[in-house]
Parts: sequence; structure tokens; C-alpha cells
Amino acid sequence: MIRYAEVALNIPFKDSDTLSYEIPETMKSIERGCRVDVGMKGRKLQGLVVDIHSNMPKYKTYPITKLIDKTPVVNEEQIELAYWMKDFYLTSLGECLQKMIPTGKKTKAFFPQIPSDPELLKLNDEQKQAFEKIKNGFGKEETHLLYGITGSGKTEVYIHLLFEILTKTNRSAILLVPEISLTVQTLSRLEQIFGNSLAMIHSMLKVSERYNNYLKLLSGEKRIVVGTRSAVFAPVKNLGLIIMDEEHDHSYKEHSSPRYHARQIAQRRANINSCPVVLGSATPSVEAFHFAKTGKIFLHTLRKRAKEAKLPEIKIITNKKGTVISDELVYQIKKRLDKKEQVVLLLNRRGYSPLIYDKTKKEFLGCPKCSSNLCYHKTGKMICHLCGFQEKMNRLKENDNLELLGSGTQKLEEYILEKFPNVRLERLDQDAASKREIIPEIIKKLLNEEIDILTGTQMIAKGLDASKVTLVGVVNATIGLGLPDFRASERVFSLLTQVSGRAGRGKLEGEVFIESSTEDHPILELAKTQNYEKFFHEEILVRKNLFLPPFSRIIRLVTRSPNEEKSKLAITELERLLKEELKQNPLENTILLGPVECPFYKIDTYYRNHLLFKTLQISKLKELIKLVLEKFKPHSSVYLEIDVDPLDLV
Ligand code: ADP
Ligand code: ZN
Repeated sequence: MIRYAEVALNIPFKDSDTLSYEIPETMKSIERGCRVDVGMKGRKLQGLVVDIHSNMPKYKTYPITKLIDKTPVVNEEQIELAYWMKDFYLTSLGECLQKMIPTGKKTKAFFPQIPSDPELLKLNDEQKQAFEKIKNGFGKEETHLLYGITGSGKTEVYIHLLFEILTKTNRSAILLVPEISLTVQTLSRLEQIFGNSLAMIHSMLKVSERYNNYLKLLSGEKRIVVGTRSAVFAPVKNLGLIIMDEEHDHSYKEHSSPRYHARQIAQRRANINSCPVVLGSATPSVEAFHFAKTGKIFLHTLRKRAKEAKLPEIKIITNKKGTVISDELVYQIKKRLDKKEQVVLLLNRRGYSPLIYDKTKKEFLGCPKCSSNLCYHKTGKMICHLCGFQEKMNRLKENDNLELLGSGTQKLEEYILEKFPNVRLERLDQDAASKREIIPEIIKKLLNEEIDILTGTQMIAKGLDASKVTLVGVVNATIGLGLPDFRASERVFSLLTQVSGRAGRGKLEGEVFIESSTEDHPILELAKTQNYEKFFHEEILVRKNLFLPPFSRIIRLVTRSPNEEKSKLAITELERLLKEELKQNPLENTILLGPVECPFYKIDTYYRNHLLFKTLQISKLKELIKLVLEKFKPHSSVYLEIDVDPLDLV
């Protein structure tokens, strides 16, 4: 009798979840959860076996070409999770399973050693209260929001919770951190405390190392995992706790299909395993705080800094002179340098000049592949930050019709070195950190007081705990507010709060100067008060009035194609099908917006159009979209992107 494997293919396949393939005699050992190579219409594809049976299918079947794994690489819980995910995110089963197994580019192996004290600290009263409440929730499906100001010692609460799980229970725990920026300090501390019990899954490890750690979790050899977004899928046995540090961070959202959010996966796993989820942040997402305020999740507040330190004072200054930074900020930097203290300067824009103006044509130079401007870099290249397009800029020398406008981190660095020729400065942005080992090297230098000024983009805003930093300056603070994106103010408020939190963490008092060209943007006023709750109360009203999350759910559908017309035709056809379906099965409290061109209309030669649903009937709407997708047959050059609960709409 022939045996068959049900294989979930790693393609956006919508007709069925799996296809049956024959199991050859040589592959008798095959199990649920193993990866295989199979052929489909002449293509070689990878898939994952989710079932084995002897029921002959109605279609002609082929044998599996290759068995990749000797033993399963995903467990039963992950398979169950994938079935849930594909419906939740309207994608294929195979794509969901694929996201759970670590892959990636080969990187050099290194993990920085940053010294710290391997002792557990004694929790203060606020920390202890939160710790006890969460601990009492072990074994129950509960969500806790640990809302604590920067430096209040949230990390220490996580450490105590993980320690409790490890030493007092036989369960496992996952700690999620935002994409590696300066969180290496936290990672080092965790490694020193948990040593061999800890498995890390993040991009500073070699692919093979990451994969080995994954297998050790699968086999139950390790029980504590710390990692970035995809670590939420870690195949631990007997999951007992999931912690998400900096819960509001956008790196928790995946950018390719399935576009999952780690928070949603965490909550699903908590449901499957009956265990708590802890969300931590100084600036929670508006959604999380809303749910805490309305009693749907538990709220724990840490209002004091852990080490007797006060929050720094924040001052807003305007720079109307057009210099890279104001004279006032230059003066403040000098004051701190004279006292041998350290300075952090944030400018959330990399490169030298973000705009190159053509005076003859009276326009900015744009990327030939995108609807965006080219940015001038110190290397003499003009680079598109959306698609990576590069071109050498000879044109500047050839005619002086081109003018560089605005400043990025490279220009800021140059300006500071001009003002303070002997200062020891390091810059940390995507360009400087193209080699990842740069990041821990720079942190070490900062901690060892071998540099005076650290400057960079949002990479420097998180995690850093350096007690000699007493001045934080933010240059051009309103960057990002111009985007047609309903989360823009949330993002800027959180960035300003996070970076301000780097100042005055030790015995020395800190001070923050936030600089912009316009003085009275409401977000700056709010950032100045450092009052998240005030920000929240204003923001939640806006969300309510505009029927935005958390008062509605959003599904976004994007068509993209190198063929401008086909992309438009496809979105129009999609709209027609959706409206037809809605006419037959009207959905209450559901609004369809668009179709229109996306704010970034062209990215990397793809023309993009989108339409949006805002709804209170997410499940019914998903069913309806699924029906429509069966009928939707766009031109072969058109891709359809589906984003359930998108973080941005650009
Ligand atoms: P957060 O993550 O909330 O910004 P951290 O966890 O980084 O804050 O803590 C800030 C600083 O306070 C760190 O240097 C940490 O070692 C210290 N700290 C935290 N909790 C305690 C405690 N209970 N006693 C003494 N120091 C603490
Ligand atoms: Zn481009």
C-alpha cells in the first residue's frame, strides 16, 4: 500500500493547504514536521510534512524527491499554530511554517562580551509588586502590561521572572527583544546570569548557531530563549511565560507574508499553553495601553527610576538659523565635555544630505526606481533609502546646478568635529553598522568612557545604560511626522521618550535638548512633559474619532506590479469583486476605503495601489476576502499583499 505525505508548500498557495505526495520506500522514516523537496509543475519546491496517511487522493501523485530532515524540525504546537496563523493572516500554511524555522544570510559569528554583574538584584517595592502579581499568573492565560519609565528596571523584573521559571518550574520561557540595536547590553547580562540554560536566536549569531540553538529548544535541552521577532515561534517544550520587551517596537511586525505581529503570536501561544504574556514598555502601543486601561489586561506601573536617578529635564529649542544644530546645543555640548561627561546626539536620518536640488530643473533628484528622493552620502554616492539604488554623483562637480539640502548623521558628525576638533566621537547608523560587530565595540567604548559623543539614528535610542551620559540632544525632532501614517505621532513620541531616557541614568543628573525648526508641534510639547499618559489621552481621542485601532481593525490589500496599468486594473478588479460580495453579504461597521495609489507609489520598480478596510467584524470580513480571493485572477505580473492589522499604511 502506498503511503502519502501531506505537504505544505512554501508558496502563496490558495486552493488547498497541502498537496499529497507519495512516500518512497527509501524514506520510510519520514515524520510529521520534516522538510522535503518536491516537484510541482516542473519546479522544485520545499515543503513541510504535516500529515501521513494511506488515502489515495483524486489527482495524480508524485513521489517526494528528497527528505531534508531525519527528525522533525517543528513540533505539534507549531503545526497547530500555523493552521491558526494562515487563517488569521490570510496566507498559506506553508508560508507560515517556513517563518518558524531559522534561516537567513550567513553572518560572521560573534557575540559581544560586555561585562556586567551576574548577580540578581534585590527588587524594589514597585518591581516586587509587579513580579509577584505576574508570578501568581503562572499557569494561567493572562496578559500583563509592565509600564515603567525608562530606567525603572523592567529588565530586572524579566530576569527574576525567567529565573523563577527556570528554577521553580519545569516550564520554558521566551523573552523577545527588539531587533538588535543597543540591546546587546541586556543580552550580555542575560547570558551571564543564565549561562548554559539560555538559547539565543538573533541576527548576531551565525545561521548555523541560530539553527543549533533552535534544535536544542526543540529537544528540550534548553528552556530559556531570548531573541528577536521570530523567536516567538521557538519550539520550546511546555511553554510557561512569554515576555516582550519594548512591546511597542515596530520590529515585532514582519514585512513579508505572513505579515505577523509577534504580540499576536505570543497571545495565541499563551492561549494554547495556558501561560501569561508580559508586555513591557515606557511608551506602550496605544492598543496595549487602551486594553490595560479598560481592564482587559493587567497593568503594573513602575514610576521611579531603579537607581535613585531622576528623569532628566527636557527643553525644547528651535533652530531657525539653518545651521546643522543650534548654537545653544553646541554650547550645551561644550559644557558637558568640559566636565568630562558624555553626550548622545540623535538625528534620525542617515547619510549626508537627504535632498539634492537641481536648480535648473527646479526639482529634487529622485530615484529612478521609486517615488522617493535620492540621499547624498559622504562616499560621493547618491542612494535611495527605499530600494538601495546607488549612483555616483559626478554631476555635482560637473555643474554647480546641484545643491545639497538638509542634514543626515554624516553631516552632523562633520559639523560636530568642526566645532570640537579633539572630541572622541562615534557614529552609529545603518551605514556605520553595516558590520554588526561595530555595535558592541562602540557600546564598550562608551561604557569605558573612551568616547565623548555618540551620535546616530534611532539605533542609539534603545537599551543603552551608560551612567556618564548626562546630555541627550535630538536634532530635527519632527522627522517622520510628515508621513501620511496614523501611527506617526506614536512613533515620534516613543522615540523622543526612549532617547531622552538615555540621559542621567546614574548618579549624575541628566538633561535633554530637543531641537526642531518649528517650535510648537504638539508632539514636542508632550515629549517635554514626558507624560505618556497625557499623550495617550490625546491620541486615543484621535483614534476614536477616525475609527482607527483599537476602535477598529484594519485589513490592507496592496497590488504591486512593474506594469503600472496592470497594478491599477488589478486593484479595480479586486474592489469590484469585494463590493459585489459585500452587496450580497453586507457587513455592518465595515468601511472600505480606496482604492488609491499608495503614499510610496513606486518602490523598486513596482507600482503600488491599495485599498483598506476598517471593521468591527474582522472574522466575517476575512471569510469574505477569502471568497473573493478564489475569484480574483490578476495578471501574472501582479502580486497581492495582504496585511491584517498593518502598522503603517505607506
Ligand atoms: P529599563 O529596562 O526599565 O529601562 P533597566 O532594567 O535597564 O531599566 O534598569 C536601569 C538600571 O537600574 C540598570 O542599571 C539596572 O541594573 C538598575 N536596576 C534595576 N533594578 C534595580 C534594583 N532593584 N536595584 C538596583 N539597581 C537596579
Ligand atoms: Zn529607490
